[in-house]
Amino acid sequence: MFITFEGIEGSGKTTQIQTTASWLKQKGLTCITTREPGSTDIGSKIRAILLDPLNKNLDHMAEMLLYMADRAHHIGAVVKPALTKGKTILCDRYFDATLAYQGYARGIDIDLLKKLHLLTLNDFKPDLTLLLDLSPETGLARAWEQIDLGARTTAESRFENEKLNFHQKVRAGYLELAKQEPERFRIIDASQNEDQVQENIRKALSSFFPV
Ligand code: ATP
Ligand code: C5P
Ligand code: MG
Repeated sequence: MFITFEGIEGSGKTTQIQTTASWLKQKGLTCITTREPGSTDIGSKIRAILLDPLNKNLDHMAEMLLYMADRAHHIGAVVKPALTKGKTILCDRYFDATLAYQGYARGIDIDLLKKLHLLTLNDFKPDLTLLLDLSPETGLARAWEQIDLGARTTAESRFENEKLNFHQKVRAGYLELAKQEPERFRIIDASQNEDQVQENIRKALSSFFPV
């Protein structure tokens, strides 16, 4: 089963993926965690280009194609082989992030993005997407706190430096996507504390992985 975690910066995706993976492993499932961009040797080079604050003038189309290139390689090299072996895959961001960031927030045509996804990955979709929904004010405050604590480097701050309005568009884009595909999406209130968020994630997963 291919499960993706989506949401704005600081919504708790990375935190919750780790806890969810431990829980699923305790239940005896073979589970892997992965992320986009940057889960392969080639992907980490693409990630470095995308996140480098010196590349702030990166053309929007070129940026989008780099995310797509990372994804095509990641799905072929990591996700599909793991699925073939019957593993559960928890993935930190996927194509919905491209629709939300490069589409709804940066303004690239949504239909064009969908066509490219069809062309590159035959519209390969997750079985389930957990959207950690949070206000950008709270999410960015959490992300900046990590930078202050040294847990995140300023080399990762190209996106945290985007204006609040950009992140509001990302959030609204994600909510629109969830509305369009209610079967695939579960919206999780990410403003609660870590334990409460994890409890709601487990509830959302319970029909797939009975306790
Ligand atoms: P990004 O998109 O920037 O990678 P993320 O969604 O992966 O962010 P995390 O890195 O998991 O978010 O969390 C960001 C910060 O917020 C971390 O310091 C984390 O400990 C903290 N955090 C995570 N979940 C919560 C929560 N429910 N309440 C308060 N703080 C939280
Ligand atoms: O989630 P993670 O911190 O790994 O993402 C790295 C950065 O890439 C984030 O700041 C996010 O805003 C950005 N990103 C993006 N478009 C995507 C995926 C991630 O702008 N499709
Ligand atoms: Mg993260």
